[in-house]
Amino acid sequence: MSYSDDRENLKMKPSITRRQFLKEYTAGSLSLAALGCSALPQKLAQQSRNQRQIADYRIYFGDLHNHNEVGYAQGSLGRTFEIAREHLDFFAFTPHGYWHDIGHYENNIENKWLKGFEVTKKRWPEVLEMVSKYDQPGKFVTIAGFEWHSRSLGDYHILFPGLEAEYVRFDDLRQFQQFAKQRGAIMIPHHPANRLGHRGANLKWLDPEVSPVIEIYSEWGNAEHDRAPYPYIRHTEAGRWTQNTLQHFLAQGYRLGVIASTDDHLGYPGAYRKGLAAVLATELTREAIFDALRNRRTYAVTGDRIRLDFRLNGRLMGQELPYTPQRELAVTVTGWEQLDRVEILKNNRVLHRDFPMDRVPTARSWNEPVLLRFEYGWGPWPALGMTRTCDWDINISLKNGVLEDVQTCFQSGPLDETRRDKILERSSSHLRVQSFTALRQQFEDIPTKAVVLKVKGVPDTRVTITLKAPTQVSLSQTFRQLAQSGEMLFTGDFPKESAMLHRLVFYDHYYTSYKVSDTDDGADVNWYYLRVVQANEQLAWSSPIWVEPKARGSA
Ligand SMILES: [Zn+2]
Ligand SMILES: [Zn+2]
Repeated sequence: MSYSDDRENLKMKPSITRRQFLKEYTAGSLSLAALGCSALPQKLAQQSRNQRQIADYRIYFGDLHNHNEVGYAQGSLGRTFEIAREHLDFFAFTPHGYWHDIGHYENNIENKWLKGFEVTKKRWPEVLEMVSKYDQPGKFVTIAGFEWHSRSLGDYHILFPGLEAEYVRFDDLRQFQQFAKQRGAIMIPHHPANRLGHRGANLKWLDPEVSPVIEIYSEWGNAEHDRAPYPYIRHTEAGRWTQNTLQHFLAQGYRLGVIASTDDHLGYPGAYRKGLAAVLATELTREAIFDALRNRRTYAVTGDRIRLDFRLNGRLMGQELPYTPQRELAVTVTGWEQLDRVEILKNNRVLHRDFPMDRVPTARSWNEPVLLRFEYGWGPWPALGMTRTCDWDINISLKNGVLEDVQTCFQSGPLDETRRDKILERSSSHLRVQSFTALRQQFEDIPTKAVVLKVKGVPDTRVTITLKAPTQVSLSQTFRQLAQSGEMLFTGDFPKESAMLHRLVFYDHYYTSYKVSDTDDGADVNWYYLRVVQANEQLAWSSPIWVEPKARGSA
């Protein structure tokens, strides 16, 4: 969800200024993004109207795979839906459903799974009720589904295209795929990089009609390749098997789009750093999201809602093109941190690498909004034995600056049934956030949460953070100061919780747009995808674009 105030109204405006254009671009419209920023405002407005008639895709972020106490994970069902609605555009809750080839394990731990499946069976009508109750096309889209485990074939989760969805147990994948096909459902293979035979994806059984996309990142880790950051470490079934990574599958000729989702087990969909699915859809409806999934107009992010526009000869990610020797690759990326590098890969190797964070900001950098990250948490380290949850009431006010967009970075830990992370108030100069943190159940050992503000400001813009909880304390800085250095806010003496305002991120560093040419003799199929690495180690990957080989015998 972008927290933009006027996302829906933008379509109606007859013409836009450059400022509005930038605001619109960062808020939602992909078709404008492809135009770059060099054209004149008037021309931009004209082009944008024309382009919209062709393709009017917007980027939406959601979680298509996660768990709670319906199944064998934690956290109540109602809380899960509340959390999802607070910070996601779309949401599929996928309770643990069935495991046809489960074995008999040490300490009878299989009973944990088997009991979980019984809970799902019993509470399935309740799940469907929640899916129906929370569905609000245009604002928040819910999807029904469930998970199917398999030691030999790899795990899938099924997503239903409508509110009528059956919970069924299949022992045979072919029958399951047939069932999905009949219902227009989608089955997504997830944590694919486990070894074959140990819940790794067995793509020989993949039905591309039912499974157009693969989940390459979740709390399990990153399946792009066997040396990519975020190895498989959290779950039990060993590390990443080279032959089951995305790059290997692509090299084998599989044509899959990519998504990420959390696979969170604390009932916290959309948990920061565990993965999100991004779709390019014409509107926020279940139909449009399914259309995006089926056509692989999807991409994966680990946490920060990085905006990607990646095209080859004007065609969007996920598409297959007939052979052409000349390829123009157009890239536009807007991050939520400094972009360390933006890479175009061809056949799994980097074709072009761009380093936005090496650029030098100038006085003109103030013409564009800056990013301001407020991160809070820390607190007594576990060895001190002071296990507590800290409540935060955070007021952020801006003087001489306009708040244009906000990203929340709420992680799933600590598990708490009553507390909520929430934006309580928001205006163009003020943000109030309610949140809680603990050095407990934190993901990747990181005990903090954050909000990132996109602010149009000047060196004299002043940001003031005033806490009402955990204690009354404040921090005030000008953008001039924050351009030079981040600053801390301590809620008391050691070992009390603390917070920080990160050093500002300028547009030069979080935005990039460029074009690269490539030629190929067409001896073989080529695939191109985009990889983004932010300085804070948050990643994004586009779905690939394929170019067919030259037909044999043709000139
Ligand atoms: Zn699974
Ligand atoms: Zn799962």
